[in-house]
Amino acid sequence: MGIRGRTLAWMFVVLSLALSAGFSYNARIVSDEVRSEEDRDNAQRAHSAAIWLEDSAQTLLGQSRDYAKWDNTWNFVRDEAPKYLIDDFNAGSWASLDMDALVIGRPGDLRFARSRPVVGADDAPLSIDTLAAIASVLQRATEGTGLVSYDGDAWVYALTPVLRTDGSGGDGMVWIALRRLDERRLAFVSRMTSSAVEVLPPASTGATGERAHETYSTPLELGVSKGWQLRVTRPSEVHARILARMLELATAMMIAGAAVLLASLTLVDRLVLRRIVQLSDQARAIQPGDAARRLVISADDEFDHLSEAFNSLLDGVAARDAKLQHDSMHDMLTGLGNRALLHDRLERALTRAQRAATPGFALLFIDLDRLKMVNDLLGHDMGDRLIAEIGERIRAVVRSSDTVARLGGDEFAVILEDTVSAVVAAQRAQRLLAAIREPFTFAQQGINMTASIGVTLPSIGSTVASLLKEADTAMYAAKQAGRDGWSVYDEAMHGRVLHRLETERRIRRGLDQSEFVPWFQPIVGLPGGRTQGFEALARWKHPERGWVQPDDFIPVAEESRLIGELDMMLLEKSVAEFAPWARARPDLFLCVNQSAQRFEAPDLEIQVAALIDRYDLPERSLVLEVTETQFGRSEDRWSERIARLSALGVRVALDDFGSGYSSLMRLRTVPVGMLKLDRAFVSDLAAGNGALARAVLQLAVELGLPVIAEGVEDHVAHTALVDSGCAFAQGYGYARPMSGSDVSAWLRLAEARRSAEPFIMSVAK
Ligand code: C2E
Ligand code: CA
Ligand code: CA
Repeated sequence: MGIRGRTLAWMFVVLSLALSAGFSYNARIVSDEVRSEEDRDNAQRAHSAAIWLEDSAQTLLGQSRDYAKWDNTWNFVRDEAPKYLIDDFNAGSWASLDMDALVIGRPGDLRFARSRPVVGADDAPLSIDTLAAIASVLQRATEGTGLVSYDGDAWVYALTPVLRTDGSGGDGMVWIALRRLDERRLAFVSRMTSSAVEVLPPASTGATGERAHETYSTPLELGVSKGWQLRVTRPSEVHARILARMLELATAMMIAGAAVLLASLTLVDRLVLRRIVQLSDQARAIQPGDAARRLVISADDEFDHLSEAFNSLLDGVAARDAKLQHDSMHDMLTGLGNRALLHDRLERALTRAQRAATPGFALLFIDLDRLKMVNDLLGHDMGDRLIAEIGERIRAVVRSSDTVARLGGDEFAVILEDTVSAVVAAQRAQRLLAAIREPFTFAQQGINMTASIGVTLPSIGSTVASLLKEADTAMYAAKQAGRDGWSVYDEAMHGRVLHRLETERRIRRGLDQSEFVPWFQPIVGLPGGRTQGFEALARWKHPERGWVQPDDFIPVAEESRLIGELDMMLLEKSVAEFAPWARARPDLFLCVNQSAQRFEAPDLEIQVAALIDRYDLPERSLVLEVTETQFGRSEDRWSERIARLSALGVRVALDDFGSGYSSLMRLRTVPVGMLKLDRAFVSDLAAGNGALARAVLQLAVELGLPVIAEGVEDHVAHTALVDSGCAFAQGYGYARPMSGSDVSAWLRLAEARRSAEPFIMSVAK
């Protein structure tokens, strides 16, 4: 049952109980009072009736004495001649004595027995036998009055001895006068007391004071008779009348109560209960996610306030739902979509494309090239700002119908809608790259960021997963191709695998034939520009293709685990060529690239020690370059290796520093001896966005590490490096890699240049 039903039921029950309890309590009190008042009244009446009866009996006795103490009567009884009484005791005597029967005699000797003659009738109302029977009972009694029961009536009697007028001569004869208390006589008493009066013999004594018929009984002692009762009965008019009034009152109260109840129920119902039902009905009708539904507000009462509160709660829930929905599909930092959203949109785009039977869209994977560096050097806040800013730039370049999502740390994806060809997609990728390349000005010194973009278009049988994989492969290819570029996925990327296998076969043969030789690129000291060393760079003297650049064979050699052998060959050959130069200039150093595979080989120190020994290399002239990307896995082993190498007088330089996922903290624990600053930093410096480069250089100074800046191509970069306090530099701006036979000439030239202008830039290639 609802609140409404319960309230109604309770109010009804409580009100009825209160009314009936009040009524019965009052009725009881009033009724009790009325009754005791009536009881007192009835007792009074009974008392009066009893006194009257006694008085009249005394009167009867007195008159009977006058008759019985009289010579005539005595003689009459003596002579046994009934003549006197029969003649003289006429109707007038019966009436004046107000008597119904007269008996004279003594026990066993009845002299006279007669009842009051009835006018116009011969027979006495009582038979002689009856009178004799009464007399036989009474003659034994002493003088006085009393009561006797006979024939359903009570009789008053007066008994007195028969004597001479002078009072002598008593011989046991008694005079008994009987008066019947019949209806007629009692009617008189009844009239007098305005009650029905009854005289009851001792045997019939009922419950004294019982009230069944508004009666009242009181003991009646008349002369010698004991145990009689006088009962008055009087219909209780007052009581009944009061009860009737009480009933009327109660009815009126009930009606009034019911009216009040009805009125208050109607009020409560209209103002409260019905509103509650309406509210709960409305609230129940609101479905989860039903943002538009609201509770109706009609007035300005408490329920409307409740509805308002509920509505604003609904608003809050709806807002939070929307936010949750949005958050589950979006990236917090950039506000762009997330991976889930991308999947969703790709799925739809694929369905559309399949229906239209044209590619319809392109998927772009964008990977930032150097974000880790920014995070490490300038802090994550700066990294986050960069990501957010790049997100905005991407957003600004694409159309609003396109989807931009951030997939993780430095990865973004774009769905370009309505893109039918790879050419169009590539143009858009180029626009994106250009937008990302714009220097970021919010960092005080400016930062340059670049990205690599992989592009793919759907074909028959494409799935979301296959598209994601293709875009990733293409992006990876763009990174391999030197970053800051794009690449479109095509089947040829598979073809390249075959090409790689062929290359691998050729490298093996090249190693056998000793086709790999070192070229040397000078490293100059700053600010003077004097040649301080060389980096040995592998070149392949291919029998068919001529000189082959390392980018075309080093990655394959690394993948096929031939790089260790190649490194070994290059180390040996370069040291052999370098040794004579070092004898002339013992301050020169030689940098040789070592792959991780080679650097981890157990016999590295043995080979190095043997070389130093064999070619009598000066102390600290040999530098081994390892890239920081290879530096990762076993820090402890590398630390040991570096320590053992430095015991041999060999330094280790960290190559391409800053290009990959360097952990700058590791620099403090792994004892490298030099840093090679990646070319990209140098071009940033030259472009005036050298925040990162400067941070790296500062860190190197802090750690006491000499830095060799790579890829210095012009005077601007040179000057910027000098200004930043960089110790060494290498690049096309000073000299390109050259064959060993060209180095002697270069050294002579450089010596000649030494005292003049510190450095002559030859930008020409
Ligand atoms: P790297 O170790 O970073 O070598 C520097 C590369 O930058 C060389 O390319 C060099 O010719 C080029 N370079 C120098 N100055 C400039 C400049 O001013 N501008 C530009 N654009 N480039 C400049 P190279 O010789 O093609 O070598 C490519 C990479 O191959 C090397 O990068 C190195 O990682 C790897 N490599 C070369 N030789 C060996 C080797 O013997 N063993 C191993 N493991 N890797 C080698
Ligand atoms: Ca190198
Ligand atoms: Ca390098």
